[in-house]
Amino acid sequence: MSDDDIALTAAEQGQGIVRCDACPVLCRIRPGRAGACDRYANEDGKLVRVDPLVLLAKPDLARVAFIEGSSSWAGELGKGQGAIVPPPTITGIGATTTYPDYKPAPFIVSSKHDGVDMVTVVTEGIFSYCGAKVKIDTDRYLGPEQAAVRVKGEAIGHVTTAEYGSQMLSLGGVHHLTGGSKKEGVVTCDALLALCNKEAVELAIDGGSTVVVQADRPPIVNGTREERMRVGCGSAAIGMFAPQWKDHVDEVIVVDDHITGVLSEHQGGRFLDMKPAGIRVRGRKSTPGRYFQVAEPGLGWGGTDVSNPLEIIEKIDPKQAWPGLRLLMVSTTGEHSAWFELDQELKPQPADMPAPVRLVVERIAENCEPALCTVLFMAGAGGSLRAGVTENPVRLTRSVRDTLTKVTLGGVPAYVWPGGGITLMVDVAKMPEKSFGYVPTPALVAPIEFTLRADDYAALGGYASRTVTLEDVLRGNKVRVDK
Ligand code: SF4
Repeated sequence: MSDDDIALTAAEQGQGIVRCDACPVLCRIRPGRAGACDRYANEDGKLVRVDPLVLLAKPDLARVAFIEGSSSWAGELGKGQGAIVPPPTITGIGATTTYPDYKPAPFIVSSKHDGVDMVTVVTEGIFSYCGAKVKIDTDRYLGPEQAAVRVKGEAIGHVTTAEYGSQMLSLGGVHHLTGGSKKEGVVTCDALLALCNKEAVELAIDGGSTVVVQADRPPIVNGTREERMRVGCGSAAIGMFAPQWKDHVDEVIVVDDHITGVLSEHQGGRFLDMKPAGIRVRGRKSTPGRYFQVAEPGLGWGGTDVSNPLEIIEKIDPKQAWPGLRLLMVSTTGEHSAWFELDQELKPQPADMPAPVRLVVERIAENCEPALCTVLFMAGAGGSLRAGVTENPVRLTRSVRDTLTKVTLGGVPAYVWPGGGITLMVDVAKMPEKSFGYVPTPALVAPIEFTLRADDYAALGGYASRTVTLEDVLRGNKVRVDK
């Protein structure tokens, strides 16, 4: 794109049109209108950032101020009428962006901590390389690993390897944002934006379920809200509760899609000298009392497709079982449970569960944690963003790796991956409301702050001469202070 393409014509200038250069879209914005991302607007012929700059007050603050516009700000921090004590922390939310063209970051703010001169470099990063890692606390079957996750029919990510008690999704990333059709990129960007701003998004998984995901809220799988995250796998549940069952049962089978536990065979039962009960479950035996693949994955007992637990019993050995044998079958959350006694033909017959056994089933449920969705924003803080911090970008990367520079997003410390680059993750639930924006390239816009000692900043080639105080920032900008 030539300078002529970028420059406004005389006629456009005459109409009061302004050019936004905060992202490669380079919107021409008419008076009173906003740009394509709704983050910038033309206010009386001036380009302005629509949202206020967000400061974070310390959580223990007794008073939190809300300041709209510079005139209402007394310019005092930590002293006098209307002051905020202690001074708040600046975030990148509403800070504006000064790249991909080369320019220093919009705010390079000095402060003093424990007598040490510090600098916080603040910007809104535009992340073409970004996505969300989503942890969904449920054993219900969401879909096969590697299956596409869709919104409005567009693939925005995939199911990745399950974790302990949780299903995992990997969403977004540069291939979905830029490597597919325009619609795929737009839908992916929209879904990421909503998820990162803590809104609910319904996801459909190929060959599996639909799940409504919202950060820090329970997942809703095929219309049913998940309540509990399992206490452990079937084998772990046996290990935890075996002593409490021992005197009240002859056998317990904990139904689990991954590892079904059988008490009398399990190490936990043997340790308690339990007699073999002769009830053999389906699937592949891993070690005594631990069985894999007793059923297909699904939305039933313990993340299997089983609605009648007796389906997983392969045979009952007449040489070991006996009439009257007491059998508890239970899922890993305690959500499903049933009590059986063997009749004269050694067939399990439903019966009323004794109170002491019911108590332990309830204890399984009590030991489950509430099921939640966790959304981690993951992104790479790349070349031009770093160039806004220092003239020598690799030094910022090294400084982050050497933990001389702390990286936060919206004031929340980020986990920075080892290895090359500044590849980071942050829990969006901890970030202030509406921390994220987007640009139609498509890419997400996220706040990012780099905080380090002032002398370290100078040493890495930072724009030390552009350092301002927080008071300077407050005087010239609309500000919101969040708890
Ligand atoms: S999309 Fe937004 S940031 Fe990009 S040029 Fe337009 S108004 Fe500016």
